[in-house]
Amino acid sequence: MFLQVKGDVMDKYKCSICGFVYNQAKGFPVDGVEPGTPFDSLPFDWVCPVCGAQKKDFRKQKLT
Ligand SMILES: [Zn+2]
Repeated sequence: MFLQVKGDVMDKYKCSICGFVYNQAKGFPVDGVEPGTPFDSLPFDWVCPVCGAQKKDFRKQKLT
């Protein structure tokens, strides 16, 4: 049985358009997003730093 809390920080979200991966553990400091920021906590108007896609265009990735 996995600990659900532990999985959250390690989750990654991939842009379905350009392939950019948002790593919650690392955040995105260049864009003012601090490490450990959950994808769901990103600003509503946050967009992919590479192609400008909206949050809805990102897909959650499972660690294998
Ligand atoms: Zn993108």
